[in-house]
Amino acid sequence: MTVNIDVDQSRCVAAGHCVSAAPEVFDQRDEDGVVVLLDENPAEHEHEGVREAALLCPSAAITVREAERRS
Ligand code: SF4
Repeated sequence: MTVNIDVDQSRCVAAGHCVSAAPEVFDQRDEDGVVVLLDENPAEHEHEGVREAALLCPSAAITVREAERRS
C-alpha cells in the first residue's frame, strides 16, 4: 500500500490535530501555525496516523490517496 498526501494550506485553520496524529508527516509553521507537509509519501508505519489526521482535521485540509503498491 502506498499513500499520497496533499494539504491545502489555504483551508488550514491551524488546529494542529494532524501534528498530534502524525508528527513525522505534518508540522506547523512557526509564524501562524499553518500546516506544513514533511513527507507526501510516508512509510507504512505512518499510514494509520495519516488517516487519523485526515479524519480529525476540522477544515478537511488533508487529502489522502491510497493505492496498492505495484511491483
Ligand atoms: S488538522 Fe487541519 S486545520 Fe489543523 S493544522 Fe492540520 S491541516 Fe491545519
